[in-house]
Formats: sequence, C-alpha cells, structure tokens
Amino acid sequence: SQQTIDLASYIRSIPNFPKPGIIFRDITPLLASPEALRETVRQLADAVRDRDVEAIAAAEARGFLFAAPLALELNVGLIPIRKPGKLPSETFSHTYTLEYGTDTLEMHKDAIKPGTRVLVVDDLLATGGTVEACCRLIEKAGGIVVGCAFVIELTDLKGAERLARYRPVSLIKFS
Ligand code: IMP
Repeated sequence: SQQTIDLASYIRSIPNFPKPGIIFRDITPLLASPEALRETVRQLADAVRDRDVEAIAAAEARGFLFAAPLALELNVGLIPIRKPGKLPSETFSHTYTLEYGTDTLEMHKDAIKPGTRVLVVDDLLATGGTVEACCRLIEKAGGIVVGCAFVIELTDLKGAERLARYRPVSLIKFS
C-alpha cells in the first residue's frame, strides 16, 4: 500500500543563514530522498494538471532541480531562465529591484512561441520577485503564464498576493 510522505519533514531549517535573523529552509534532505523527490514532483504535477501547461520555465539554480522532472512528468519542454551572460543566443532581459540593489534575468528570445501556455516553477516563494521577473520575460516573448508552482512558500512575505494573477500554488507553507 502507498505510504503518505510528509514532505515538510524533509525540509531542514537552519537559523542565521545566510545572515543573522534569517531562517533558511534547506531542501537538500528532500533532494537526497528519491521517495520525497518523486512525491514532490507528483504533487506539483497534480496541482497544475488542469491548466493545460505547454512548457515549463524556471530560473537558475534551484528552480532547475524541480523544473526538469516536472517537465518530464507533464510531458512538456523546459525553458531555462538565467543570470546575465549565460545564455548564448539573443535574449530578453528583465531587471527587478531587491531589498538592496537590483537583479537581472535573461531568457532566449526564441524560447517561447507567442500564445504558448507556460508554468513557472521554483523551489521557494519568498517575496515573489524572482518568479515575477520570470513571468515578465515570458510575457515579453508573447507567452501566457498559466501558473506558478513552488515546493515551499514563506507565507509572511505575501509573495502569493504579489503573484495572485499568476495563480500560485505551493506544497509546503512556513510562517
Ligand atoms: P523571492 O524572489 O523573494 O520570492 O525569493 C525566492 C528566491 O530566493 C528563490 O529562488 C529561492 O531559491 C531563494 N530563497 C529565499 N529564501 C530561501 C530559503 O529560505 N531557502 C531556500 N531558498 C531561498
């Protein structure tokens, strides 16, 4: 019989990383368990099954870890979104503001055909800035963002409200 797996028990909480006062949610125990990783991908797929996803996009680096197996599970392709200077062909670029300073992400201009239904995946939703930038890139290319999916959501940071128009889903919530 199928034993239910408590995914939250595979997330390790590390206080004061990367700086004092921050509790880092560490996914490496989940990645180390084939049962937990398989269950995570299965639950992500179930959460978006009704959205007619045609492609998955994810930002480096931890987003890639879940995007590739989810793309296989949904039988769609994967579009990498990267830090500046990494992608070899022509790119769209989007710069967004962080608490201190700015960050930029890039995506190949020809990665998405206009009208393609794209799901954005990341390991963790904090403020939503990273995934919002990914959504902007997809929209610049004419894609339709039909959802965004996260393994973990830090609910106090209200990222789900910021991303509401992209109908976010998450598997594990921490407050
Ligand atoms: P946001 O853009 O503020 O939503 O931050 C989300 C990004 O920061 C994700 O790509 C995460 O990989 C990373 N991140 C922020 N906090 C944590 C954490 O506690 N554990 C793992 N990754 C985190």
